[in-house]
Amino acid sequence: MGIEEKLPSGILLTSVEKLSNYARKSSFWGATFGLACCAIEMMASGGPHYDLGRWGMEVFRASPRQADLMIVAGRVSQKMAPVVRQIYDQMPEPRSVISMGVCASSGGMFNNYAIVQGVDHIIPVDVYLPGCPPRPEMLIDAILKMREKVMAAPLGPNGRKMLAQREAEGKLP
Ligand code: SF4
Repeated sequence: MGIEEKLPSGILLTSVEKLSNYARKSSFWGATFGLACCAIEMMASGGPHYDLGRWGMEVFRASPRQADLMIVAGRVSQKMAPVVRQIYDQMPEPRSVISMGVCASSGGMFNNYAIVQGVDHIIPVDVYLPGCPPRPEMLIDAILKMREKVMAAPLGPNGRKMLAQREAEGKLP
């Protein structure tokens, strides 16, 4: 009897998926990318006091092609929106997005023609982080939530869609 018949079906794929997700969540590489005041708190998170390096995140990448996490830190102006989208498009899959602060998530106090009223109008967002500005501890909490989502994400091009479906059905751990 071959090994395929002895193993429960899908066990190999599940293990590869878990291994891949474990590697991914253990070393997010963030895109170096700050839009406004929230970025100061993001930078503080990477410093020695909060030490994002504890979660394998000490390296922020200057090239989006080497990054798999975008932290949208600050309000997104209409002029900046195409640039944000372009940077997102240049990041390889699988990639994740955290919307940091009320301005990035909803326009915040800038309810006017110059500011995009939520970055999810231009790119998909995985985790929304409230606050003005959110403290580094809050950003770290959002990153830990992002790690949980990555562990639950199916492999493949439809991973994000399937994850959203599982989330809607309340099937996430
Ligand atoms: Fe600045 Fe507050 Fe907006 Fe962040 S949420 S960009 S700190 S005004």
